[in-house]
Amino acid sequence: MSKRDYYEVLGVSKSASKDELKKAYRKLSKQYHPDINKEPGADEKFKEIAEAYEVLSDDTKRSQYDQFGHEAPGGGFGGGGFSGFGGFDDIFSTFFGGGSSRRSDPNAPRKGDDLQYRMNISFEDAVFGKQTEVEIPKEESCDTCKGSGAKPGTSAKTCGNCNGSGQINQAVETPFGRMVNRRTCSTCSGTGKIIPEKCSTCHGAGTVQKKKKIKVTIPAGVDDGQQLRVSGQGEPGKNGGPAGDLYILFNVREHEYFERDGDDVYYELKLTFPQAALGDDIEVPTVHGKVKLKIPAGTQSGEKFRIKDKGIKNVHGYGQGHQYVIVRVLTPTKLTEKQKQLLRDFAEISGDIPEEQGSSLFERLKKTFKGD
Ligand SMILES: [Zn+2]
Ligand SMILES: [Zn+2]
Repeated sequence: MSKRDYYEVLGVSKSASKDELKKAYRKLSKQYHPDINKEPGADEKFKEIAEAYEVLSDDTKRSQYDQFGHEAPGGGFGGGGFSGFGGFDDIFSTFFGGGSSRRSDPNAPRKGDDLQYRMNISFEDAVFGKQTEVEIPKEESCDTCKGSGAKPGTSAKTCGNCNGSGQINQAVETPFGRMVNRRTCSTCSGTGKIIPEKCSTCHGAGTVQKKKKIKVTIPAGVDDGQQLRVSGQGEPGKNGGPAGDLYILFNVREHEYFERDGDDVYYELKLTFPQAALGDDIEVPTVHGKVKLKIPAGTQSGEKFRIKDKGIKNVHGYGQGHQYVIVRVLTPTKLTEKQKQLLRDFAEISGDIPEEQGSSLFERLKKTFKGD
């Protein structure tokens, strides 16, 4: 495997100043640091960057490299012989210093986790909304120990292994210098506390599983897949932090007759052939009750009628949908001899066969497709 050019590795020009080198190195080593970047190959990349910087930041090694490249006299640069390089602790502190150290403090107030609850509701309840109750399993702060996890009258002690930080810093010597690994303390599992006498109700967890009834208002007009946030009904917070939120995800069941598209409702209306041909006044169901619909004479199968404002009220208050009625003309099947005779008579009198069935169409198609 051929080695990449050190300048290329750091993404700098051959005339880069020491400052430019340092900047490039700091940026790249942060990006590929194995504690941060878990992508495959990041480790190799990090080593490559460290090696390039190790050489280019040293004036003597840099001038050798400039003259001879990777084949520099004295066995090259890659095969060991690295002096530990400074600056690593410096970089490390920028990774974990500042705000992030607050976050890793196990005693800091933390917001509880959010919960999600799937709720199956009927088509009607989605359209009109409803007050209801849900029973959800929830972690609640333990009443016996008030959430401390310790037997009443006793208290938790600071973990001696990590001195209450919940984390262990472990320095490892590598060819590229001292690396510091930060691990969760195994003695206290990262809580920073040891409970010598555990609460018998929650066995030291500080929380118990309870079923909790929560009032939920299904918003009128809610659609399948939409979520409702119920603030503060998630998992309890830690160390006095606020509780998380509960998200209710609505699964709306299908309706036997109505189909929904956004705020509009679709309904298929079956008409007999005489109704479609002669027209009729028909009562059509809508989610808001029956509505009279005038079917004009000569209505075709597939024709669409709109019944204004008889759809669903928008969940965000943006107006109201409509109901669309799609006509399906039924062709009679079980005919009596009398009905058949009437239809034959009808056909004979009307005589108008659709143009597409006529011979002129076949003539035209013949011209288009040539062979026959
Ligand atoms: Zn308890
Ligand atoms: Zn510990």
